[in-house]
Amino acid sequence: MFAKQFDYKKASSVSDAVQLLSNNDGAKILAGGHSLIPMMKLRLAQPPMLIDIGGLEEMRGISVENGNLRIGALTTHAEIADSHDVKDAAGILWEAAYGIGDPQVRNRGTIGGNVAHADPATDLPTVLTVMDAKFVIQGQKGMLGGGSRVVSADEFFLGPYETALGENEILTSIEMPVLAANQHAEYAKMAHPATSFAVVGAGVVVTVDDSTCTAARVAVGGFVPKPTRGPSVEQALVGKELTAENIAAATDLIENDLGSDAFGDIFASAEYRQAMAAIELKHAIFHATGLAHHE
Ligand SMILES: Cc1cc2nc3c(=O)[nH]c(=O)nc-3n(C[C@H](O)[C@H](O)[C@H](O)COP(=O)(O)OP(=O)(O)OC[C@H]3O[C@@H](n4cnc5c(N)ncnc54)[C@H](O)[C@@H]3O)c2cc1C
Repeated sequence: MFAKQFDYKKASSVSDAVQLLSNNDGAKILAGGHSLIPMMKLRLAQPPMLIDIGGLEEMRGISVENGNLRIGALTTHAEIADSHDVKDAAGILWEAAYGIGDPQVRNRGTIGGNVAHADPATDLPTVLTVMDAKFVIQGQKGMLGGGSRVVSADEFFLGPYETALGENEILTSIEMPVLAANQHAEYAKMAHPATSFAVVGAGVVVTVDDSTCTAARVAVGGFVPKPTRGPSVEQALVGKELTAENIAAATDLIENDLGSDAFGDIFASAEYRQAMAAIELKHAIFHATGLAHHE
């Protein structure tokens, strides 16, 4: 099917893009187009105008400064998967980016488009939630009057295809703390064989001091409306040595944190996905702590 007719504008800067959004009701930002164009072809989205931000160099790039990793929203999954800076600072994100879709999707799809779209089946919302990432958002009038505001991952994802981004706002970059030497992070997913979308995804960052877990952030995604933290699991890990038995006992508790809104579809039922959440979480912590290794 062809998309409904639409106008096209190329933004010359972030502020130009914000201005164009504000002046044109229903207009949509176009980044890599790998979520938006399929939606338009299926007529699930019919924006009257697309505002192409693809040429905005100020929204690209990866840097590490003062213990902080910053990634421009237009940075592609392939650029993240190729980056030594990301590998060293946040190996969990580097590995997850490599596991997205196929080369075409990774070459065009952007980190900003991925999270702004907030498809529950994608990987990066879960990974960025456990990394405690911050989302830098540009609008006309921000909290500080300068037009920009910062939202934490726990507050950014609101539900399926719904984020804290306002109608006339643009996500410009994502920032996260560089992992410390005593922090271990991993993302594990049961991938859909045709697309690599997450049937179930699980992310974890554990801090280990003197063989004891002193802090933990875990989240699951792929089958829930938004990345879902596992406070029961986190509490059960902290204060314990991360042995196989302790990890298995803690990850089994994820069902307490899931609520009742798990999704199922023709590929996998909600019950199956819920059961797999504990397995993928255990898998992630085993890899993070060296109890299991990739081939
Ligand atoms: C075949 C296929 C397989 C895939 N497999 C996976 C997978 O395994 N794992 C995974 O995580 N994802 C997967 N994806 C999703 C892919 O990662 C996303 O489609 C892609 O990253 C979206 O980014 P984009 O730049 O193409 O966004 P676009 O399609 O251009 O935009 C998506 C939405 O976000 C908005 N938007 C984009 N950028 C911004 C911004 N900076 N500020 C505000 N709003 C913005 C747009 O207006 C639009 O509503 C797959 C997609 C396809 C087509």
